[in-house]
Amino acid sequence: MTEQVRVRFAPSPTGHLHIGGARTALFNWLYARNKGGRFVLRIEDTDRTRSTDDYIEAIIQGMQWLSLDWDEGPFRQTDRFDVYRSYVERLLQEGKAYHCYCSVEELEQRRQLALAQGKPQKYDGRCRDLKEPVPGRVPVVRFRTPQHGETVVDDLIRGRVIFENSQLDDLIILRSDNTPTYNFTVVVDDVDMKITHVIRGDDHLNNTPKQIHIYKALGYETPRFAHLPMILGADKARLSKRHGATSVMSYYEMGYLPDALVNYLVRLGWSHGDQEIFSREELIRYFSFENVGNAAAVFNPEKLLWVNQQYIMAASPERLAERVIPFLEKEKIIEEGKELDMVWLGRAVKTLQERAKTLVELAASLRYYISDDIGFQEKAKEKFLTEKSLPLLRDLRNSLVSLTDFSHAGLEPVFKAVVEAHGVKLGALAQPVRVAVTGGTESPGIYEVLEVLGKERTLKRLDTAISSIT
Ligand code: GLU
Repeated sequence: MTEQVRVRFAPSPTGHLHIGGARTALFNWLYARNKGGRFVLRIEDTDRTRSTDDYIEAIIQGMQWLSLDWDEGPFRQTDRFDVYRSYVERLLQEGKAYHCYCSVEELEQRRQLALAQGKPQKYDGRCRDLKEPVPGRVPVVRFRTPQHGETVVDDLIRGRVIFENSQLDDLIILRSDNTPTYNFTVVVDDVDMKITHVIRGDDHLNNTPKQIHIYKALGYETPRFAHLPMILGADKARLSKRHGATSVMSYYEMGYLPDALVNYLVRLGWSHGDQEIFSREELIRYFSFENVGNAAAVFNPEKLLWVNQQYIMAASPERLAERVIPFLEKEKIIEEGKELDMVWLGRAVKTLQERAKTLVELAASLRYYISDDIGFQEKAKEKFLTEKSLPLLRDLRNSLVSLTDFSHAGLEPVFKAVVEAHGVKLGALAQPVRVAVTGGTESPGIYEVLEVLGKERTLKRLDTAISSIT
């Protein structure tokens, strides 16, 4: 029987879930789902000064919004200090780790000296073979890293990457305050949680040889590694706030659909021919590391917007109607908690979804459907609500009063009859009506708009427009 794939996303809660973190989570999730494996969420909160519960919440909220569901966890490293200490103890007993009494000041002095002499700035191994403790000093625990030979990382994306052991430090695994450090806790957890594949950003590639030594010292097999290419901004610098929003939830606020963001994120590194739009099922089915490139990916907000637009166009109007509610509330187009006729809202959304790139835009364009207080745009009123259009608007109004079938099919002949009677083109009537009912000159087809508004509200708006002219 082949071993079950077990992967993990291991964020440090020192900030919100950002684009890079979400992409790492997504690739882990896809790999687990593709292989019928398990996806573990582990919160790496050992840095107590920078980790907060609010950030843990925020990360979880981001993952939930993206529907990246995990099978185990969230585990917190701060709940596992005893476990780490017992592993440190084991390494000490086996001589694979040692106490180091050098003070921070001494280390800094030596580092400066090495720098001045052009020598490698790594720990000089002074306490490696100490027999007795140094009185009056609280030690740290260092890992005894092999000083010779090489370590090969056989990476699923990068291929073979070779590190010289002589370049590696005897890293600290337990600080003097008795707290364990990242490279150690990560190995202990990956062993305990039976992780088979470590999938993470390639900013961690340099940590990997250190971690491989720790696996070996503990007598465990190393997992497979897959280091994902970096994400850069358009200027080829590492993606940061300078390049615009980087937190996942700010894309929620800007009106992006979670599936669109997922679709965009997966293409930051992975490809499947030249297909751009994928359903989740397709992503799960097609995902593999063979199609992850090792060149850095460039984050392109315009492309993300385009993907979002594709998702909005293809979404079911009912679903979009539900998603747009918080944006209608935020824009004060509806009162918070107010009940809306969702079937009707779905019909309104359907007329607009071809044009909206985000839910924010969709909410804004729904305003004239929902609110009767539309107001006319100055220029539109000047141009279209004129003495010339007045008889047309009046005639239309009078014909509509008796119309029973207030649908596209019912409305069209009425409009046609009015323009024919006046010997004008359809636009000469449609544009003034558009301004009358929406306040502006841009909207979906006029019959669709009227159909959604319904007879009573249409007549009222025509009356208001007519009286604004006279
Ligand atoms: N906690 C690390 C980070 O947020 C991830 C460590 C790992 O995936 O091994 O960068």
